[in-house]
This record gives sequence, structure tokens and C-alpha cells, in this order.
Amino acid sequence: MARNDTFSINGREYPITDHTYDVVVVGAGGSGLRATMGAAESGLKTANITKVFPTRSHTVAAQGGIAASLGNNTPDHWSWHMYDTVKGSDWLGDQDAIEYLVREAPQAVYELEHAGVPFSRNDDGTIYQRPFGGHMQNMGEGPPVQRTCAAADRTGHAMLHALYQQSLKYDADFFIEYFALDLIMKTGANGEKECVGVIAMCLDDGTIHRFRSKAVVLATGGYGRCYFTATSAHTCTGDGGGMVLRAGLPLQDMEFVQFHPTGIYGAGVLITEGARGEGGYLTNSEGERFMERYAPSAKDLASRDVVSRSMALEMREGRGVGPEKDHIYLHLDHIDPTVLGQRLPGITESGKIFAGVDLTREPLPVTPTVHYNMGGIPCNYHGEVMAGDKSDPEKIVPGLFAVGEAACVSVHGANRLGSNSLIDLVVFGRATGHRLKELIKPGTSHDELPADSAELSLSRLDHFRYADGDTPTAALRADMQKTMTRHAAVFRDSKLMAEGVENLAAINARMADIKVHDRSLIWNSDLIETLELDNLMAQANVTMVSAENRKESRGAHAHEDFPDRNDAEWMKHTIAWFDGWGGGAQGSGKGAVEIDYRPVHEYTLTDDVKYIEPKKRVY
Ligand SMILES: Cc1cc2nc3c(=O)[nH]c(=O)nc-3n(C[C@H](O)[C@H](O)[C@H](O)COP(=O)(O)OP(=O)(O)OC[C@H]3O[C@@H](n4cnc5c(N)ncnc54)[C@H](O)[C@@H]3O)c2cc1C
Repeated sequence: MARNDTFSINGREYPITDHTYDVVVVGAGGSGLRATMGAAESGLKTANITKVFPTRSHTVAAQGGIAASLGNNTPDHWSWHMYDTVKGSDWLGDQDAIEYLVREAPQAVYELEHAGVPFSRNDDGTIYQRPFGGHMQNMGEGPPVQRTCAAADRTGHAMLHALYQQSLKYDADFFIEYFALDLIMKTGANGEKECVGVIAMCLDDGTIHRFRSKAVVLATGGYGRCYFTATSAHTCTGDGGGMVLRAGLPLQDMEFVQFHPTGIYGAGVLITEGARGEGGYLTNSEGERFMERYAPSAKDLASRDVVSRSMALEMREGRGVGPEKDHIYLHLDHIDPTVLGQRLPGITESGKIFAGVDLTREPLPVTPTVHYNMGGIPCNYHGEVMAGDKSDPEKIVPGLFAVGEAACVSVHGANRLGSNSLIDLVVFGRATGHRLKELIKPGTSHDELPADSAELSLSRLDHFRYADGDTPTAALRADMQKTMTRHAAVFRDSKLMAEGVENLAAINARMADIKVHDRSLIWNSDLIETLELDNLMAQANVTMVSAENRKESRGAHAHEDFPDRNDAEWMKHTIAWFDGWGGGAQGSGKGAVEIDYRPVHEYTLTDDVKYIEPKKRVY
């Protein structure tokens, strides 16, 4: 602990408790825990700050599994995994990072096995692997490969428990139910930004904590909650992305939002792709297995964007099921109930609870549901955050790292393959740990914090705490979510997106009129939800503007006025800044989003594999 100051604003005082660490990780999902474990294991004094108890992070909900070319159930090779990931990304992924991911994947899975993850087993004792969408043998030629390692349909749950235990073993300090507010940035003489810590609030007593550190790792997960229905938890509000935008740094590829084909109709609860991996299939109102028409070879196991679009087309052409023809059936009723019981026990339960369906007998009503953010904080495969420098696109922000769904490395490009996120969490969480070990000498002294280190975070906190407008947070959030759901859906066109941009800017401006009822700092969920909404709002605006800007179709971005991929003009990453904080203490308030681009890495990491040339993506 260093000094303890008090921050005063409008006659109100916020006493600050100081902490000093080598590394602070924000977020205790799979990626944050793996980075925490790595940093702590290398002797760095490491803190983890998390707004929910570690094992309640959204990773706990991951069902289907984790991809690695172990080759236990079918032949496999890392270069096949690489090909599938590049193709899945619709050639927007960076191939050096993808090579790193797939080559490190098997080792990362064995490491989890040794850390105690109870993987499902084959009879010979090896880890059981199931098929998943878009994963094929023989450089995409097929047949489908069995590459996804699973602990029944509770893989994420098992991973979180193992990784939390490991982090504790290496003596990392956990600040549980602490809400990170903002990064502490320092601007050097040459105008370069550097991250020197983070400010957080303890949720149960409202105390303010300032963490000074050599490195901050953002592992805050996705921002699925800017949509009305999402498979992600209510805590997935993209707080890390919000902090990065407020620090004047850009986010990358935000227009690419993944819709999972099988969210339970109405509830949005996920039915893992493992269900189709185990033999499940989709039908329309005519009982037709329509995926055979759209993806003759991979069928129901085509990649997610393809299956979601096919479902949307079936519904649009009047072949949806139900009175409104607004959903599709997923059949598992032909699968042996013992197999369902062993391999998919969780979803059998979800079917009963959320759709009232016994899926051993009846089909389940499903619809494409927002599931994953391909975009996020731009970083390289060491986890180092990119500054968005116009003359040097690879330039990093010293002291700032990002991992997991919050990050955009980019290995998923325009569309992520199922089971490639869990592997991304552990591979890049581990890589970040290695980088931190290289860069930081344990116990060396820290620079002084800038004099205004608490200014941004606490003036914003105070602003929202006393916000006294006429619009309740929940009402504004619902407007934002409905606008995103309507204007940035599975299919998009120029008119719809232009309206979306305008409507969202207007909704953002209403942040200035927000009303927070509770002024206390003790478990003030009204205030915290408002801070989360502020984070979501910025990212919703950036997503909408980035989508409107991209005049092509690629991966999850299906633009009806530009139905083809256009590599000549658009094989590049979008990067976008936000200066439009409607109600916050800074920015123009006009929802201003500035756009630029970064080149896609058209090279591999080593000479062991050739750059995979773009071609048409068919399944
Ligand atoms: C239902 C569901 C099923 C899925 N199934 C699979 C699957 O089978 N295979 C696969 O590969 N992928 C799957 N995915 C995707 C994958 O699970 C996620 O992308 C991944 O778990 C995200 O992990 P994370 O570490 O980035 O963040 P999360 O697990 O989302 O954790 C975020 C962490 O950040 C913390 N945090 C956030 N904001 C703050 C703040 N302001 N202050 C302090 N702490 C903060 C939270 O407390 C939490 O600990 C699934 C996703 C969902 C929603």
C-alpha cells in the first residue's frame, strides 16, 4: 500500500485506498484466471479484480467444449484446425495469431487436464472429442473432424473451477465483487499513452481502491447485453471495452457479432452446438432438413453464420414453425436417451425448464440468438493492446493487455468457430502470462501516479451517482437493446443500418437525462447498472457505425445491398474510437465514432505452414 488520498468533487469526498501490484488482471473468467495463474506462477505479485465471484463468470455457461487437434476420435492435424479457423473467420483473422492458437491448443488442453478438468473419456482413457460446426478433416475437404474436447456439456464450469484453484495455489490476491471503473493512463512527453493501473469500487461497502501496477490485463468478457436477447449472462456488459474507449483508444472489428443458431425460442438460453455435433438436426415447418440445401456437405454442422442465415431465410420465406412462423425446430428425439443423458445432460434440463420440452420425445423451438463478439480490444498474440497508431499499426500501449472475449487478437476474424473461444481463453491467457514474465521484474519500484489518476473514474462515478434526469436506466437500456436487435441483426441493409446509427446516437444523447434513484454506495445496483449501460452504450454505437461503414458481406456481417465478400477493398480490420459520451463527464455527447483500418496479417508465424489464400467460403 502506498499513500491514501481523498478525491473531492462537488463538495463530496471519496477516500481512496491504494494498492501496489506487479500485475492486475480485471476479470476472472477463463481468460482472466489463466492470465492470473500464469503471472502469479512466475513470481509476479498479482491481483485479480472481478465483479462476480470467479466461478460465476460467463465462462461457467460454456457447454460444448474446447477445440484442439488431439486426434483421439478421428485423425487430425493442427494445420487442419488452422485452415478451418481461417476459413471460419472469412479471411479476416490474422494468420500468424491463428497459427499460434492451433499449435498451442493441444498443450493447453493437456495442461487443463493436469490442472484437474474432468474431461469426458473414450473407452481407451483418452479425452473424448466431438464434432462441431465448421471443423473438418483434410484442409476443409471433410469429412467432419472430432476436435472438441468436452466435460459432458459443462466444460466451462469445469475449467473455471480448475483455474481458480490453480490461481489460489500460486498466491494471487482476489478482489471479489469489486467493480473496475477506469484505467489509469499516463501520457508521456511525446504524447504516448501508457497504462499504470486501474480504479475500482468495492461493491459491498462502496470503498474506492486505486491499483498501481506495471501491467493491467483486461479480461472482462463480451458485450452481448447490448442486444435484447442474448445467450450471454447479464454481466456481459463489455466494461473493459468501455474503459478502453474512455482512455481514447480504439476497438476493432465491432461489426462482427455472432448469432448462435440455437438459442431457445423466447428465453434465449443456449443449446450447445454439441447437440448438432451429437447428431441433432434442424427442420422447418414442412419438416424439411433444410440445411442440406444450404450446406450440402457440412449440413447442420456448417459454421454458425451460415446456419443462422439459413434459418433466418427459412423464417422469412414463411417456413418458420409456430403460429408466428418465427422459429425453427431442433431435433434430438432420435438420439438414444442414454447418450443424451451422458453427453448432453445440461441441455436436456434446459429444454425442460426453458421450453417445457422433453427433448427425448419432441423437437425444441430455437432461433438465432446473439452469442459472441468477434470484435474487441485490438491486441497481438502476446496479449499486448494495440494503440491504433495511424503510421504504425502494430504499435502497442505499454502496460495494457487484453485477453478472452474482450480482446480481438484477431483469431476469429468475421466469424468464430464453435469451441474456438475456450481454447482462445487458455492459449492467450497463458501467452500473456509468458509476456508479463519477460517484461516485468518482480518487486521493482513503480513510477509515481499522475496527479489526476482518479479524476476520470471518480468524476464519472459521482456524475452518475447523482444523475437526476427523467429516464430510468432500465428504460434507456431497453431502447438501446431493441434498436440493436432491429438494426444490427443477422441480415442488415444500408437503410436499416443508417437508421440504426441515427437512432442509437439519439438514444446515447439521452444518457444525459438518466435518473439514478439510489445515492448510496452500498450494493447500489442502480448505479452499477448505469455504469454498465454507459459501457454498453458506447460499444453499441461503435458496433452500429462500424457495421454501417462496411460495404460488403463477410462472416457474421451479412449486408443485403453488398451480398459478396470484397477482398480488394475490405480485407482489413475496422478500428473505431468513440467520443460521444452522452451523459458522462467527457466527450462531445454527439455519439461521435471515428473509423480507421488496420491491415489483416497476411502471413503465418513460421514457415511450417503456407499462408492460406482467400477463396469462396462454402460448406
Ligand atoms: C451460454 C454460452 C455457452 C458458450 N459455450 C462455449 C463453448 O462450448 N465453447 C467455446 O469455445 N465457447 C463457448 N462460449 C463462448 C465462451 O464461453 C466465452 O467467449 C468465454 O467464456 C468468455 O470468457 P472471458 O474469460 O473472456 O470472460 P467471462 O467468462 O465473460 O468473464 C468476464 C469476467 O470479467 C469480470 N468483469 C467484467 N467487468 C468487470 C468490471 N467492470 N470490474 C470487475 N470485473 C469485471 C467478470 O466478473 C468476469 O469474471 C459460450 C458462451 C456462452 C454465452
